[in-house]
Amino acid sequence: MSSSTTGLPELERALRTRGFTYAGRNSEGWPRFTGTLMAAGATHEARVYVDLTGQQLPRVYVNIPANAPAVMPHISSSGSVCYATKGTLVLDIFDIAGQTLACLDRAANVLDLALQGKMQQDLEDEFFACWYGDLCLLDVDSKGKEPLSVLHFEHKGFAFITNNSERTQKKLGAMGLSGATKMEFVEGIQVTTTAKPRPIQGVWPPPNVADLLRWQNILDPKARREIERRLLSASARRKHIAVCVIKSPLAQYAFWVPLRPSRDESPAQALKNARRRLYAAKVHPMSDCRIDDNYVTSRNTPNRKTLAGKRVALVGCGTIGGFLGELLVKAGAGLDNGELQLIDPDSLFPQNVGRHRLGLNQALENKAVALKAELTRGAPTANIKAFPVKVQEVQLDGVDLLIDATGEEALSNQLTRSLADAGKFIPTLTVWVEGPGVAVRALLRDAVEQGCTRCMSARHGEQLFPVIDGAMPNELAGHGCESLYVPFPATVSVRAACLAADMVSDWLNGVVAPRLQTDIVRKGFNKAIEDTDVPRRDNCPACSS
Ligand SMILES: [Zn+2]
Repeated sequence: MSSSTTGLPELERALRTRGFTYAGRNSEGWPRFTGTLMAAGATHEARVYVDLTGQQLPRVYVNIPANAPAVMPHISSSGSVCYATKGTLVLDIFDIAGQTLACLDRAANVLDLALQGKMQQDLEDEFFACWYGDLCLLDVDSKGKEPLSVLHFEHKGFAFITNNSERTQKKLGAMGLSGATKMEFVEGIQVTTTAKPRPIQGVWPPPNVADLLRWQNILDPKARREIERRLLSASARRKHIAVCVIKSPLAQYAFWVPLRPSRDESPAQALKNARRRLYAAKVHPMSDCRIDDNYVTSRNTPNRKTLAGKRVALVGCGTIGGFLGELLVKAGAGLDNGELQLIDPDSLFPQNVGRHRLGLNQALENKAVALKAELTRGAPTANIKAFPVKVQEVQLDGVDLLIDATGEEALSNQLTRSLADAGKFIPTLTVWVEGPGVAVRALLRDAVEQGCTRCMSARHGEQLFPVIDGAMPNELAGHGCESLYVPFPATVSVRAACLAADMVSDWLNGVVAPRLQTDIVRKGFNKAIEDTDVPRRDNCPACSS
């Protein structure tokens, strides 16, 4: 390979055009060149190291001028210029010389912008690339009223920081880490700042508290004072360790500091000594990972509302409802004082598991109870209630959304009728499979003036909203002691659950139309009509008041 790459003489000739001269090789055998780069209206001494095999990008270093900003993006304290993110630039190994010149141009451009105090956003993006250490899992939300406590510190090599220990214990249980104890000698500190974190020139990350406070002072002097005050207070209360979580507009980040409690001294002397010891204390950055429910739920759908805080009733925990229940929990159902009601009077039979979310381990259990148990294992803080009864026996007052995943048209119509008779209206999403897995369909009735499932057919059963062109195939299976059933694979139920979950998310975010949506699942069939709304029929026996 290396024989085909650019030779040193060619590279030397090319760099000489920019005023760079050869200055020997480094320990890796890379040729080194020295010269200057023009940036921000001045020349800056620079060095460039070139990998003649073209496997790595040239390394460019500059002498940072004394009047440079205290914090600069893409320029390390050693003067290394990061002009291309790894993986975004591939060197042409057949033109090392030309590529090196292009890299020098990019480096000069980055230096120019950095010296002018531009690209601050990049600094923020870079922050977490250079702030890492022990793992710290943050279960801290805006609603928790408890002071921060630290669980499991050191025992597993990582810490859980929480402002609701009961909630966090549930999560630890789900993670197989039950029995975690609150570390009484560890002080948890949370400080809120208005500044997004950015690395600073000089030794990075800050090796001790004095440097950390100096850095924070540049970012947000108020936060700096608060950090110092809280650390001193922890030290005065003879805590051994302080874990500090800084909540910034960009993200939360954390570090820990060992504290040495003061000895018997006069109060004034004690404070002075405490401050001296604190400044010298080592700062251990922590790699943090947020596990608070709101963050976990919303990080995959940024700027979208989730089901957190809503009361949702899922009627039918069969083949569609099982998968749908799981998707609803992933979308925040049951969190944040919300509730997910699972309603189904039937049991899961062993032959059902071929297309059910649940497996043989829960066969012969009631579907609602078993699904609740299964979902709670993965989402221990979700408020899920199981109702192993018919929907008519459940008090649905206060429910924000009713999801009918029974796939039984008669039951859907009956439910509509009984709610209308009771003078109640609950936004309802009905989801079902058409024929032997040919299509999946869902109808949203978000307001009383919208049509219901019965409004979709005329008096004599004529379909007003046909699913496919032509006739729906009629396939049944089952023999012997099994009752007849419509065969379709689990994938069809998953598709139905996905359609429903997407429509729920749209409804939460104000998108309700088209209210009748159809996805053709089986190949070889054409959708008969476009997705549309279903007008309410005056004489509908189900929804008329
Ligand atoms: Zn109707």
